[in-house]
Amino acid sequence: MAQQTIGPGTPVIAFDVGGTDIKAALFDADGTAIGLRRTPTPPLGADPAGTLIEALARITAELRAEHPHIEPQAAGFVVPGIVDAAAGIGVFASNLGWRDAPLRALASERLSLPVALDHDVRSASWAEHELGGAREHDDVVVLIIGTGIAGAILVGGRPYAAGGYAGEIGHAPIAEAPPRGDAVRCACGAYGCLETVASAGAIARRYAAETGATPDGAREVIALAGAGDAVAARIWDEALDALSLALAQLTAVLGPQAIVIGGGLSRAGDVLFDEVRTRLAGRLSFHRMPQIVPAQLGDDAGLLGAALHARELS
Ligand SMILES: [Zn+2]
Repeated sequence: MAQQTIGPGTPVIAFDVGGTDIKAALFDADGTAIGLRRTPTPPLGADPAGTLIEALARITAELRAEHPHIEPQAAGFVVPGIVDAAAGIGVFASNLGWRDAPLRALASERLSLPVALDHDVRSASWAEHELGGAREHDDVVVLIIGTGIAGAILVGGRPYAAGGYAGEIGHAPIAEAPPRGDAVRCACGAYGCLETVASAGAIARRYAAETGATPDGAREVIALAGAGDAVAARIWDEALDALSLALAQLTAVLGPQAIVIGGGLSRAGDVLFDEVRTRLAGRLSFHRMPQIVPAQLGDDAGLLGAALHARELS
């Protein structure tokens, strides 16, 4: 865990629920994560919300038995998909199966604690704002570029959620569908979404499709591009172009002070950040050029955000 403390306050328990596993920890009065663990997400079956809440209750009992001196006063948990945090509802999550599930009320009743619910990436962006790469700024866009591209927006220092529908930068169109263009169909069903070209997953997939090779992720495609492989160079160039187009749109519309980039692709380092800065600047005129900065909290940002939200209740 890159950053293990959320600062002093009441003890809380936090969960970051993903399709593969559930990350959980207690946070003590110093704000230090205690008992941090990953538990495989159980098959959620016909009652996905109820089954998930039972899993959270089991993990809570386990953590409390191991650390009886820490008595959480509230719980925070974050889930993927469309989340109406204000209403406490999991609206939709393709990989977890619920629709309009009252997750916050169910968890609060089962855990006998006040509960905060949020979207995983909005929660991560909140943690980056409070503790990490976006600390100096109130108007921020956060992008997590991995298998797909997830995003979150902070306006005036507060998450902008729009009922859970805001921030889907990965599913903003950057190319024209056939017959007018050659955009491919996204897993979401639309054509030409940013993540079909610029996600780490898409970079590796496109290279594999064109060459028949199986690259070790986007990282290897980027290395091949640097070594003079023409196909890799074109795919990486198209990814950077699509990304800078999307960031130029965001800059013109939202005027963020900073754009924070995390996720697997951000580990490419300067070869990504320098290129994005140059290409974005090339597309702008009077606009305020945002700082393009790496996320600082790594994979635990969502969990830290969940803990921060729980603290707000206690
Ligand atoms: Zn899409």
